[in-house]
Amino acid sequence: MKPFPTQIFKDFTVVAIPTRTNFRGINIREVALFRGDEGWSEFSPFLEYEKEEASTWLRAALEGANTPWPTLYRSEIPINATMPIVGVDQVAGILQGFDGCTTVKMKVNNFEESADVLEEVLSIIPDAKIRLDVNGSWSLGEALLQLHDFNLRFGKVFEYIEQPCSSLNDLALLKKEIPMKIAVDESIRKNLGSDLTDIRDVADIAIIKWAPSGGISAAHKISKEVGLPVVVSSALDTGIGISHSLALAASFERLDYACGLGTVALLQSDICHPGVTAADGFLDVSRREPDMDLLEKYRAGEDRQNWWKNRVTEIFESWGDEK
Ligand SMILES: [Mg+2]
Repeated sequence: MKPFPTQIFKDFTVVAIPTRTNFRGINIREVALFRGDEGWSEFSPFLEYEKEEASTWLRAALEGANTPWPTLYRSEIPINATMPIVGVDQVAGILQGFDGCTTVKMKVNNFEESADVLEEVLSIIPDAKIRLDVNGSWSLGEALLQLHDFNLRFGKVFEYIEQPCSSLNDLALLKKEIPMKIAVDESIRKNLGSDLTDIRDVADIAIIKWAPSGGISAAHKISKEVGLPVVVSSALDTGIGISHSLALAASFERLDYACGLGTVALLQSDICHPGVTAADGFLDVSRREPDMDLLEKYRAGEDRQNWWKNRVTEIFESWGDEK
């Protein structure tokens, strides 16, 4: 393998930050940060991602580091709270990390496990708009039963249901039967490169993400093709990655919904100071830099620095002349 391209990834540093709750099985979040001509950027595909998917994240990271942000239509972005699958006793503590947010996105497995958690959310924020994120895990039959129960008990609190089923066919059938709107996430993210124009017939809202799309300009291409109102969301990024997602959200001329960009609150600490967490329900759009003390505090061991450098070098080499 060729040497790591130090000139392109200046000050490349891997940090390992503990999470506050188990989020998609993760308790420590590893993230690579580096600097380019325009400022700091983040490369943080989850560890199990294969080269192809990680490669898209690297394109986003490089664009973020080296390309000026496009025209921004607003300087602050409305933020939703993000509730992982937790026990009722953890709900209040998690909501505290999302100051002023009145839209709450909840990960759910089923009605039985989540009804009390939702009840607790509504007791803390009585007029909350609720989004359920199913990550495509229900069959059509399950979705009908589950959403019937949610609708019966909670009525009109739902802003939308995110990816209740994975297939577009099931989503189309479900859409005719339920009173809630449907948002798609995996339907877009896992089908990049194929025709996305059918999606608008089966959904109402598109979840668009900065790194999984391959950056701001790629995300605009995708959202144009899908042709639905967007919600910009993230996974578990530090304030550096989030700053680019905020710029993406600000670069849409129309933004009708709160965005899922307050997730730094799910980490034990940001790498920026002050941390990029919502205040009064909003986040400012600006370029962020890591705090050098925090960078040192959460710096991962040498073996992890090398693992990530190899990951980058491998992808970088595979691009050959087209980079
Ligand atoms: Mg989702």
